Amino acid sequence: MLTKAKDVVCTFCGCLCDDIILTLDENRIVRVERACANGMGLFKNYNPDLLSPKIRGKEASWEKAIKEASEILSSAKYPLIYGLSSTSSEAQRVSVKLAEALGASIDSTSSVCHGPTGLAMQFVGEPTCTLGEIKNRADLLIFWGCNPIVSHSRHFARYSVMPKGRFVQDGRKGRKIVVIDVRLTQTARVADVFLQVKPGGDFELLVALKALVKGKSLDAVEAGGISTKVLQELVTDMKACRYGMIFFGMGLTMTKGRDLNVRELFSLVKELNDHTKFSALPMRGHGNVTGADQVMSWLCGYPFAVNFSKGYPRYGPGEFSVVDLLCNKETDALLVLASDPVAHLPSKAVDHIMEIPTIVIDPAESLSAKKATVYFPTAMYGVDCEGTAYRMDGVPLRLKAPMKGNRPSDEEVLEAILEGVRRC
Ligand code: SF4
Repeated sequence: MLTKAKDVVCTFCGCLCDDIILTLDENRIVRVERACANGMGLFKNYNPDLLSPKIRGKEASWEKAIKEASEILSSAKYPLIYGLSSTSSEAQRVSVKLAEALGASIDSTSSVCHGPTGLAMQFVGEPTCTLGEIKNRADLLIFWGCNPIVSHSRHFARYSVMPKGRFVQDGRKGRKIVVIDVRLTQTARVADVFLQVKPGGDFELLVALKALVKGKSLDAVEAGGISTKVLQELVTDMKACRYGMIFFGMGLTMTKGRDLNVRELFSLVKELNDHTKFSALPMRGHGNVTGADQVMSWLCGYPFAVNFSKGYPRYGPGEFSVVDLLCNKETDALLVLASDPVAHLPSKAVDHIMEIPTIVIDPAESLSAKKATVYFPTAMYGVDCEGTAYRMDGVPLRLKAPMKGNRPSDEEVLEAILEGVRRC
């Protein structure tokens, strides 16, 4: 018999679209409505059948796998827990408890995407807002170093460019769209204005814009590869808008300058608030990577790259972050939670993963799971288990479980490993 599940949240990306409609036949998804191609793939490719865990590639009982994982982690001198961005905040919370019990390091995918944004926030504050405010108020939208048409396909339609808002009743016609990027992306193609910054020139461009906003004149004819005249026009638009918004991506956080770029961007937004209302938001990628930062901050006081080896949390981006720990061969066991470091980290880090025992908790048998010493095939948050996830603007959403759950959740497996570690 066919049944429908409405208002389902898609957890593929940080947009967390909460209007998805699923049609289910028994416990199989046969139709997905309103999701983009990425969301469609998330729902359609998921098989909720209970699968056995694997130890060194061979099927094993859940009890045996929990025991093996607990022993690996307990006997390690310097274990690392990594990932966290594609799971519920409930599971993230248990992973922090496990790191504390082990005296381990814990890091999320933030350290290879918007970690620099966290560092910038700690220095200059965060000029933030919700996606609802943007939909209802923003008449100038600047997308800097991000390409949402590809990475967050429904962002334009649901939250930023297209929707008719309470104070932007003409929708797209009532908003000016500016894209700043090093290349003509698909997002840049639909913008009203495209400014091509030279690679590595973002910081210079931000400093120049801030000077112009402050009413200073520039001796230089260009900054970051863009003429001063064009920059002055942008500043005029920025000051004249009713509500301005900058979305920024890894084109700022993972290029030359990193956190200094974001610090300068936040300072620019602060200056603009002397003239009009302006905000900035990072374009967060994974479904609950924002939740990883939130949960780590509540529990440890720091958003990522935390170490518990002294019995209390210490913060060390560049020291306790995943790439540094693996490349320096400073960890001797790795627990991967809902992430795929073998597919995404630099080869030197992956080389070390290949040399140490790893435990992977993931609904899908990823590249990391195929290599794992112990692999747990768990339920998918928001599909066959409930939970909480934070949207890219920091708004927490409750996730329903439209499918009947057969598999244990990430949270349940982590609780069982924690119990096992306490017994070892
Ligand atoms: Fe899912 Fe993101 Fe697409 Fe929305 S934009 S349907 S959250 S992948």
